[in-house]
Amino acid sequence: MDEQRQFRAIKGVRDILPPDSSLWNWFESTSRRVMESYGYREIRLPIFEETELFARSIGADTDVVSKEMYSFQGRDDSSVTLRPEATASVIRAYIEHGMHVNPGLTKLYYIGPMFRRERPQKGRYRQFYQIGAEVLGQSDAPAIDAELIEMLVVLLAECKIEKWTLLLNSIGCRDCRPKYVEALRKALAGVKEKMCGDCQRRAETNPLRVLDCKVPQDQPVIAQLPSVPDYLCDACRAHFAALEEQLKLREIPYTIAPRLVRGLDYYMRTTFEITSPVLGAQNALVGGGRYDGLAELLGGQPTKGIGFALGTDRFIEAIREAGKVDAALRLDVFIAWLGGPASKQVYPVAVRIARKLRGAGLCVELPPEEMKLKKSLGLADKLGARYALIIGENEVAAGRYALKRLADAQQRELSEGEIVEYVLSQRNAQKT
Ligand code: AMP
Repeated sequence: MDEQRQFRAIKGVRDILPPDSSLWNWFESTSRRVMESYGYREIRLPIFEETELFARSIGADTDVVSKEMYSFQGRDDSSVTLRPEATASVIRAYIEHGMHVNPGLTKLYYIGPMFRRERPQKGRYRQFYQIGAEVLGQSDAPAIDAELIEMLVVLLAECKIEKWTLLLNSIGCRDCRPKYVEALRKALAGVKEKMCGDCQRRAETNPLRVLDCKVPQDQPVIAQLPSVPDYLCDACRAHFAALEEQLKLREIPYTIAPRLVRGLDYYMRTTFEITSPVLGAQNALVGGGRYDGLAELLGGQPTKGIGFALGTDRFIEAIREAGKVDAALRLDVFIAWLGGPASKQVYPVAVRIARKLRGAGLCVELPPEEMKLKKSLGLADKLGARYALIIGENEVAAGRYALKRLADAQQRELSEGEIVEYVLSQRNAQKT
């Protein structure tokens, strides 16, 4: 009686299919290469953690913690949560494994899915992907902040994304931020009635979070609220000025965004965002900032830290929009084998040659069953193969094979030893 039911991916999550997955792989390996050239090493983290880890670090009154986490009961009745971001996990691991004894700065990067129960729309998913990096240690030198940003600028250039804006701010430290928050609270007292319900609540509980509000009607009110840099203490002001110097010497353009506080509670001093004009409403490509003191909050030694997370889904969209990266994988050789009654002699040769070509790093399709030559060549064409290698009874007997270039049907006879070398040399010639 069971009705035949077709399953679909649940709302807000999606499949990344070929050929898109090739661009994803290209982007991930490009990111790894760039980050590793700056001395970052990969950390692989668990997908779920104790709920309390996120609540304590991200902040109970943030949207992420109060509304968006996928939490469930673990076996021992403790609450666990699918990670909505990874900085908290990196710090947890840094403390757990005593990484503070590492020489110099500890520079880590991660790649993987994050989970937030947000309202799905273009560029906003419930399972989305981030690549992030963190620098942890005893120094908060502005050159660290600037080099982290430089690394992102290099990545954008590698992706041929030319249009982007770096928004920069400082949100102060434990000494000066309370004064700003007080000023904000006072200013909000007079205007909060004009704002959305969430902001009215946050005006009391966590006024900084009002600045993250994305409700369009609230924006004119937010634009009139006190601006953070006006309240910075001397030390924070000097740190910010030095960061600006550092960015200038690296020739990185930026725009100061005096109300950019970012949606997570743990930030202090530097905050930044990189936006793209081609992405529509969800235009933030990267978000990051400094979080000195977060390690102490999570039970570790006093540690300085800064990091970023970029949204892979959005980066891929921006790369596609720019249209200058070709990450498509091509089929190099389709093996058209046939032998009729003699196929028992032909097929082993085809298997052997396929393995040889693949061993040389070429992409090869070997049909599992014999096909008529015309059908083989037709399929090779549809699959976008560069070459068809024809292996029949006569070719096996003569030890010479016909390699046909499908673009122009040009054909040449090659021995088994010559095939690999020829296809490789042609492929390399095309790349240069
Ligand atoms: P955050 O962890 O909120 O600072 O976000 C860092 C970056 O992750 C953002 O700039 C986006 O590019 C990306 N991101 C955050 N939330 C989502 C989401 N729900 N869907 C897709 N990308 C996201």
